[in-house]
Amino acid sequence: MPVDEKKLTEREKELALEFQASKEKLRESSRQVAMVMDLNKCIGCQLCSMACKTLWTQVEGREYMWWNKVNTQPGKGSPKDWERKGGGYQVLFGGKVRDPVRGELPTRKDFGDMWKFNFEEVFSSKAGDKHLQARNPDGTEPDWAMNWDEDQGGGKYPNAFYFYLPRICNHCTYAACIDACPRNAIYKREEDGAVVIDQERCKGYRFCLEACPYKVIYFNFVQQTSMKCIFCYPRLEEEVATACARQCTGRVRFLGFMDDEKGPIHKLVKVWKVALPLHLEYGTEPNVFYVPPLSPPRLDEDGKIDTSKPRIPMAYLRYLFGPEVEKAMDTMQSEMNKVRSGGKSELMDILIAREWNGMFKPFTKDPALLERLPEKQTKA
Ligand code: SF4
Ligand code: SF4
Repeated sequence: MPVDEKKLTEREKELALEFQASKEKLRESSRQVAMVMDLNKCIGCQLCSMACKTLWTQVEGREYMWWNKVNTQPGKGSPKDWERKGGGYQVLFGGKVRDPVRGELPTRKDFGDMWKFNFEEVFSSKAGDKHLQARNPDGTEPDWAMNWDEDQGGGKYPNAFYFYLPRICNHCTYAACIDACPRNAIYKREEDGAVVIDQERCKGYRFCLEACPYKVIYFNFVQQTSMKCIFCYPRLEEEVATACARQCTGRVRFLGFMDDEKGPIHKLVKVWKVALPLHLEYGTEPNVFYVPPLSPPRLDEDGKIDTSKPRIPMAYLRYLFGPEVEKAMDTMQSEMNKVRSGGKSELMDILIAREWNGMFKPFTKDPALLERLPEKQTKA
């Protein structure tokens, strides 16, 4: 239930401020690592998801987790209907207080369980009449999974549309998960601002799963602790880019420190203002940003190109990326036109990303050349 700030007593206001101050230490960091994903280049290949899975979640208890996932938009996403499950903050007193909102706890089924397949039955069938079947761990037939509604999208023929939305933890400046944890087990790393969960402190209460409005935290039912994307911090420490960024087929992902004024993150977010956070209204100030997708042409009833409005409804893009999305798309369009008519554009040069290692500075080391490879996650 949203709080009516006018009805709060002075004491309640004081308590809210005290609570916020008590969490301040856990949010402190000297620098903030951030990511920009250009949705115009994502082809939904899921190589990023596989890179992340191979590195972090192929061990017992984590099998059903996808710390990186690529959802089709519009769609229900992962976990199912995550955008309707609540959490985040209600911003009060002109931004002085962020009151955590208790959201719904996503179930293991909402995420889509780790399927088992009847390989043995198929391979040993002499008649060859058995086909491969997926089953939930309890033997039931699956009716949801990560990417169950992949490529379905929205709109109607001939103006159907979809695009891909890769999602990781947003390593938010105001991380609702930090506020929600009664054990103070969640904190920002001082050196890079990655939000991590101390696996030794976590007691598995799962308040963080309710509080995170992006629903990117999973519960490890074997270890009885909460887990999520760690921004590949053991790789960052070795100046190696995150696995999802390095493996990305489409050169979609830029990675770097927010305060590096010469880097692509600062330029795309702060200078050109074409990279926007997802669902800004949740109040957590994400550090993952998206360059919104430009539309393919819309067709009229006679099948002719209709330039009066974009195929992807602007209202839908506004719903995802906020009120600045129109301005961001106008900027991209006008810079594109400039290049088409023979001009130069810093913005287009950054987005095209001809040199892959310019996308990740300072995380440009080749992991294959490291003496010590990053170890599997243990503590956070
Ligand atoms: S996206 Fe969710 S889990 Fe990640 S930092 Fe923000 S609130 Fe916490
Ligand atoms: S690897 Fe890159 S192009 Fe492929 S799905 Fe992930 S973000 Fe998109």
